[in-house]
Amino acid sequence: MADDFAADGALAQAIPGFRPREAQQQMAAAVAQAIETRSELVVEAGTGTGKTYAYLAPVLRAGKKAIISTGSKALQDQLYSRDLPLLTRALAYSGKTALLKGRANYLCLERLEQQSMTGGELNVQTLSDLVYLRGWASETLDGDISSCGGVTEDSAIWPLVTSTNDNCLGNDCPLYKECFVVKARRRAMDADVVVVNHHLFLADMVVKESGFAELIPEADVMIFDEAHQVPDIASQYFGQQLSSRQLQDLAKDIIIAYRTEVRDVQQLQKSADRLAQSAQDFRLALGDPGFRGNLREVLADREIQRALTLLDDALELCYDVAKMSLGRSALLDAAFDRASLYRARLKRLKNISEPGFSYWYECTSRHFVLALTPLSVSERFREVINERPAAWIFTSATLAVNERMTHFMERLGVRQAQSMILTSPFDYARQALLCVPRDLPSPNQPGGAKQLARRLLPLIEANNGRCFFLCTSHQMMRALAEEFRASLTLPVLLQGETGKAQLLKQFVEAGNALLVATSSFWEGVDVRGDALSLVIIDKLPFTSPDDPLLKARMEDCRLRGGDPFDEVQLPDAVITLKQGVGRLIRDVEDRGVLVICDNRLVMRPYGAVFLNSLPPTPRTRDLERAVRFLHRSDEK
Ligand code: SF4
Repeated sequence: MADDFAADGALAQAIPGFRPREAQQQMAAAVAQAIETRSELVVEAGTGTGKTYAYLAPVLRAGKKAIISTGSKALQDQLYSRDLPLLTRALAYSGKTALLKGRANYLCLERLEQQSMTGGELNVQTLSDLVYLRGWASETLDGDISSCGGVTEDSAIWPLVTSTNDNCLGNDCPLYKECFVVKARRRAMDADVVVVNHHLFLADMVVKESGFAELIPEADVMIFDEAHQVPDIASQYFGQQLSSRQLQDLAKDIIIAYRTEVRDVQQLQKSADRLAQSAQDFRLALGDPGFRGNLREVLADREIQRALTLLDDALELCYDVAKMSLGRSALLDAAFDRASLYRARLKRLKNISEPGFSYWYECTSRHFVLALTPLSVSERFREVINERPAAWIFTSATLAVNERMTHFMERLGVRQAQSMILTSPFDYARQALLCVPRDLPSPNQPGGAKQLARRLLPLIEANNGRCFFLCTSHQMMRALAEEFRASLTLPVLLQGETGKAQLLKQFVEAGNALLVATSSFWEGVDVRGDALSLVIIDKLPFTSPDDPLLKARMEDCRLRGGDPFDEVQLPDAVITLKQGVGRLIRDVEDRGVLVICDNRLVMRPYGAVFLNSLPPTPRTRDLERAVRFLHRSDEK
């Protein structure tokens, strides 16, 4: 294995610019060992270690069946289309590889057919997209909607022509043989290395896709990249959710069944209309949008309770009416199964007394989600591992807190795993400077954003943009963008004004832009070289203690006799900060300044935990010194 990574090894011969890295070799050896002994391994591999090759090469060399799970669809595509082919060639690997996404990524031929028959109610644009897709359906080989250039990503047609676990007809589907999801699954079953994402993996392991049995085949090796995301994603899948979208989709399908196949049962239309209306009424009863709250508390309100009872009654009516026409339409039969499933879920969600769970709800302007989430996922995840004997390998650039891996390992129930921390090969002492400016305004005080923008403007101008301003809230992001747009002559880009990939493209092409962003730019963004040499963070990223999920985890910690701040809030914030900081130095030649606008980093005792978890970077409190450092970067 070490030979593959040597200066004259297989990788050096096949990959231009490949340089042997000690940490990469160590990780590859540990992965090879874990595969051989079918054991558990947790690796934090600092930015620049080359962790992707460090797990791919041993997997391909072992010749065993492997599942590789990544954090997002974008990373999945990158791994499958860029890294895997490169390594396959370098190691002359002859096994089969496959990419498997969640079912919502593939065109559903049956739903396309149904929509085409009832398309009268669609608006002009959606109808034109539908017509386009009918043509595309006969050309595409794999039905992967990300490759369909003719319809925009946000078109209203997509939810109507893709399937969910709930509405897929499975074996009863008349188009089962041609189904793209079935074909993708067969390719995955047939392949030696399958690339999935955490959502799909967990949905498959835990929920079991109805109608298809398991989508993901049994494997000898399971690898999770960006593993720091797994505990939170797992908690979504180990809990239960019911959303207004699901209920409205159910109502729509009942109406389609009535209009196409069961025309004599008018009750179907009436019960579906009542369900859609009650879902809408319940959404209104929940109050203001953009809110995540405690379901236990909100169900104490009589009005809300009444609206929920009416919703429950409407669901029961759909169930009863669909039941009377069972066997007459595959679509209606599937709708009946869903009505039955949703009734059970609603019953469980209404029973808010079950201990060990957080009950919460979320509402946007038109929709709501009701959810229950387990306070801890460790036991359940342990069961998943025990049910599937294999090598289980978890890696990410951000797993350790204060140089210890216990937080991650305990959350996921992998306490006995072998663990290793591999530091980044970058020379942070030379390449970077961390500045915590003196005399900062408190971010929460009125006009805080204005003062912060004024304070940092000279630094951003001195660097000619090339800056990410990462915020901890949407409110701060919008306020700062407004300030900068009023005072800067440089281009100011704002998250949400266009898609993430497009925004990054604009940022790099502009060469002098400031990008003001929040959550989605804290991780998974890779801008190398001079295009990005300044990263500013508005404050330490503690999740609001009002968040019901966090509240619940803190409560659980307290019940176990722990300290919720030290064991829950602080480690979570450290991992998030490490992700944000990791945007700055992406290569051996990168240089740049990181500014964290939060005095607590140097004034509070816990600041040391953050500093100890970040790469060893020289520090200053003087913005002038930061300007001088950036100017020296330009001279290099
Ligand atoms: S099997 Fe499911 S996903 Fe496939 S075409 Fe039929 S309904 Fe759609």
